Formats: sequence, C-alpha cells, structure tokens
Amino acid sequence: RPSIIFDNVVFGYEPERTILHGLTFEVPAGSHVAIVGPSGAGKSTIARLLFRFYDPQKGRILIDGQDISRVAQQSLRSHIGIVPQDSVLFNDTIGYNIAYGREDASVEDIERASRAASIMPFIERLLDGFETEVGERGLKLSGGEKQRVAIARTLVKDPPILLLDEATSALDSRTEQDILRTLHKVSEHRTTLAIAHRLSTIADADRILVLDHGRLAETGTHRELLRKG
Ligand code: ADP
Ligand code: ADP
Repeated sequence: RPSIIFDNVVFGYEPERTILHGLTFEVPAGSHVAIVGPSGAGKSTIARLLFRFYDPQKGRILIDGQDISRVAQQSLRSHIGIVPQDSVLFNDTIGYNIAYGREDASVEDIERASRAASIMPFIERLLDGFETEVGERGLKLSGGEKQRVAIARTLVKDPPILLLDEATSALDSRTEQDILRTLHKVSEHRTTLAIAHRLSTIADADRILVLDHGRLAETGTHRELLRKG
C-alpha cells in the first residue's frame, strides 16, 4: 500500500495569488488521513494536484516515494480511486454503473470483478437493502443509494489509494453515518485521504489535518482536536 507525501508544496492558479503556502503532510501507507477546513481553504486543490491537473510551483508530491511529476495522469487515475460529492451515474442499470465500461454487465460480471478485488462482501453490504434490483435502471435512486453505487464503482477497481472528496457531504446525517461505517470497513487497510468540511464526517481518521488559507492550522486525532476546541 503506497504512502502519499506533500513536501513543501507551493501552488497558485494565478501568478499573483498563492493558494497552498508550502504545505507538508504525509498519509502513511494504509492509514486514514482527513483534511478539513472552511470553504476556499484549498482542499479540492490538493485533490487536483494529486491527479496532476496542475503541478506545484515549488515542492514535491510523492506517491510511494515516487515524484508524481514524472508519473502520467493516466497512471495516477488507475492508482487513485476517487469518490466525489456528486457522482454522475450513467443512464443505465446499476450493474452497468458499477462494472462500467462494459455492455450489459450482469450480477455475475460484478461478482467476478469484485471477487478479483476481494471486496464482494463490501459491495453486498453497500447494496444491502436496495429497493432497486441491480438489473434495473439507476435513475430512481435516492442520494444515498447513488453514492453507494458510486463507491462500489470505485471499489471494484481495487485502487490502492482512496480519495474521498466530500463523498458524503450532500447526504443527511443518518445516511452519512451509515455509509461511513461501511466505508471504514472497506477501506481498512487502504491508504485513504478524505476531504471534508464537517468534523463528524471523519471522526474515524487516524489523523486529521485542519487546513486554513492553504496552511495547516492544526493536526491531531478527532479526540485531540475536540479537546483543543
Ligand atoms: P476548498 O476545496 O477548500 O473549498 P479550493 O481548493 O476549491 O478550496 O479553492 C482554494 C482557493 O483557490 C479558493 O480561493 C478558490 O477561489 C481558488 N480557486 C479554486 N479553483 C480555482 C481556479 N480554477 N482558478 C483560480 N482560482 C481557483
Ligand atoms: P471539484 O472540487 O472541482 O468539484 P471534484 O471534487 O469532483 O472537483 O474532484 C476533484 C478533482 O478530481 C477535480 O479536478 C476533478 O476533475 C477530478 N476528478 C473527479 N472525478 C474524477 C474521476 N472519476 N477520475 C479522475 N479524476 C476525477
């Protein structure tokens, strides 16, 4: 399982306006790290740099010790599974949406794909209680069900790194907690970086980084941060 390191990363979209001011942090291999902070702090920017939509002006980003400025975007995408806030589903069956890229994917196809990734029990859990069959179209799904499908779609690819970008922020808190419990089990030994603006979302993280105006304001466990107020 790879680690992620941001080493003194300086970045701005425009020359006169620095967004990340020499940001340094590590997500140790197999650990769960969460970044929280107010809107505009630079959280999504971190996600974009990880995928090399942009490169930093200074500093380095390392995945498993390798400087990603020498890694093709395509390869990063196959390495990092992202669950965004508003997942867009194909106008097709749930099965197709999970095993996407394949015509009329059946339950067996999904099982095959996810058995290879040894995550079938988690997929079953994610889809547990679905009113809609996997063979049906996914249009009528609730927000929570849609996110479960999106998570399953990401997990069948068995990405060594999981990037949760406000993955549950749009859901009501009960649905959110429910999905988070499953997610936590699924991603147990997977290097995970979660981006969120609510502390409750990421209570399980091994370490929380509080980002403010592109700088780390605090780091600690959920308990430590609550104690500090
Ligand atoms: P967060 O995800 O924490 O809400 P962002 O990373 O989206 O923050 O944004 C950080 C800062 O970068 C904000 O001030 C935002 O306005 C600015 N920003 C984001 N995207 C762009 C862009 N494409 N061009 C210029 N500025 C941007
Ligand atoms: P934004 O903050 O602009 O809404 P997202 O939070 O959806 O963007 O995603 C963060 C970054 O990851 C964006 O630059 C986006 O283009 C990229 N991204 C989103 N979904 C995927 C995906 N499935 N594969 C690769 N990159 C993605």
